Amino acid sequence: MTERKRQKMKGRLIVISGPSGVGKGTLVKRLLSECKKLKLSVSATTRKPRSEDAEGVTYFFKTKDEFRSMIDESAFMEWAVYNDNYYGTPIAPVKEKLAEGYDVLLEIDVQGAMKVMEKCPDGIYIFIAPPSVETLRERLTGRGSESSEQIEKRVAAAEEELKLQDKYSYVVVNNVLDDAVEDIKKIIEGKDLL
Ligand code: 5GP
Repeated sequence: MTERKRQKMKGRLIVISGPSGVGKGTLVKRLLSECKKLKLSVSATTRKPRSEDAEGVTYFFKTKDEFRSMIDESAFMEWAVYNDNYYGTPIAPVKEKLAEGYDVLLEIDVQGAMKVMEKCPDGIYIFIAPPSVETLRERLTGRGSESSEQIEKRVAAAEEELKLQDKYSYVVVNNVLDDAVEDIKKIIEGKDLL
């Protein structure tokens, strides 16, 4: 295959970050069902599965030892520690999907996104912001999956993450879900937002 043809086939890397509870999961589900060229990168994590999780679909669930072995084997494109758990993007499936011509979506935290930005400056980086920190706290509480201590930890992490939103190519405020989905689709499809 010629270099020109290979590059033409290659998909784009799309990175979405934003605080926990901002609604990334719902946005990502909508994008995957509406954008046929888009494939999700399934991360590995050491956190415990929640009721909505499914092995190999939302995450690959690993023990800390398993995760550390994967780090030693250079199996990750990036990895980070978030709320005392490891999270990482396995590199092989990302490369495969990009080579097949799919756009690959990484839904990762800001630390991971900063690492990917250094390696892949041509990617599309989208930060999902909450309308306010208070809305975020309410959404996390409504989810009912974490203790109030864990929620406060996530809110504190969110405040740190919000400080880095200017590093992203785009910031989308998730106020009305349908609007946020449309905005992201326009970004992915390369259309102007106005
Ligand atoms: P959750 O526990 O709510 O599923 O995810 C917590 C945070 O970890 C979210 O901000 C999510 O975007 C981030 N995350 C999920 N997968 C990865 C990953 O592979 N790498 C990094 N750096 N962050 C991730």
